[in-house]
Amino acid sequence: MSNITVCARFRPLSSRERSNHGDSVCVHGIDTETFVFKDEKEEDFSFSFDRVFYEKSEQVEVYEFLVLPIVQDAVNAINGTIITYGQTGAGKTYSMEGPSVLECDELKQGLLQRAANGLFECIKSTEGSVKHTIKLSMVEIYMEKVRDLFDLSKDNIQIKESRVQGILLSGVTEIAISGPADALQRLSSGIANRAVGETQMNMASSRSHCIYIFTIQQELAKEKRVKSGKLVLVDLAGSEKVEKTGAEGRVLEEAKTINKSLSALGNVINALTCGSPGKTNHIPYRDSKLTRILQDALGGNSRTALLCCCSPSSSNASESLSTLRFGTRAKHIKASPRPLCNEDHYAKNHGASHATKDDSMERILNK
Ligand code: ADP
Ligand code: MG
Repeated sequence: MSNITVCARFRPLSSRERSNHGDSVCVHGIDTETFVFKDEKEEDFSFSFDRVFYEKSEQVEVYEFLVLPIVQDAVNAINGTIITYGQTGAGKTYSMEGPSVLECDELKQGLLQRAANGLFECIKSTEGSVKHTIKLSMVEIYMEKVRDLFDLSKDNIQIKESRVQGILLSGVTEIAISGPADALQRLSSGIANRAVGETQMNMASSRSHCIYIFTIQQELAKEKRVKSGKLVLVDLAGSEKVEKTGAEGRVLEEAKTINKSLSALGNVINALTCGSPGKTNHIPYRDSKLTRILQDALGGNSRTALLCCCSPSSSNASESLSTLRFGTRAKHIKASPRPLCNEDHYAKNHGASHATKDDSMERILNK
């Protein structure tokens, strides 16, 4: 059992924050793990995380600390999940995608591009002995509906649970990826589909949760086994409070739905961390699509990392404090990932007679 990795990242001051005279930087770094945060009332709060990335930190530092170890495990059939959390404008998407998935200089490449490269680097080192296949799916959760970003006609994907493979998205498009360049093209087309949705529905990307799923399958021909690992990256919707946004109508409905799913995430984290030893308490995964999809990641069978993204400005101090408190609670979640050895899948693909009907074990859990 190990705790999930929780890091904080402060972006540089935005030009608006810089030009606003009332604004000041409210983060005072002590070292790479600890800082003092000053709230609007000048009260000091001390925080410590597995690592703190201050405004000058580079994308590669975040990748190497938070994501690379999880990428290396995913290739060995251990599931991994990386989540970015924080208010709108705090740097979640920048951390994930960089300024743009396709067109950005290497230095600014986000966790997504680096993870895709990393996966292919890792499998290169095992070439010859094991056959790997990498597939990509992309979905977003908008107004409690899971939409397939590779096929917009699939706009209400059901969440199922399989005995062998854990939580699954029923019928989601999975695209086989041939290499890092192909991965970037596919990611970019999925993200563009998200943008199409935006203009049609007049929604900003920060109003939905975006989930990138890489499935890495290893065929161990000698042992007649297929092992698979999932690497899931989640760019959450903005965590700001509804009252502050002055929202009305549809925007208010969106904000309420987001707050509900992020509250559900907070409740799951509370339930996971507040249980008394030896007792299994109820974990409310089913309270939202987000928590259902993240059940494996939070419930133990995944290596999980959380990046709490914050503005360094005093004008956003209360939202940043709430993000940092969320991260502090999450530090206490324990995880014990186990490799998934999906023998049934191999058997089915190779016509063996002992194939078990894993599919029949699937139950539709969310209507
Ligand atoms: P979010 O996804 O949390 O709503 P974004 O990632 O879109 O926020 O970031 C908001 C703005 O701040 C963007 O213009 C982005 O380019 C910029 N930004 C965020 N983080 C950084 C960073 N670490 N370095 C430079 N610019 C950043
Ligand atoms: Mg964003």
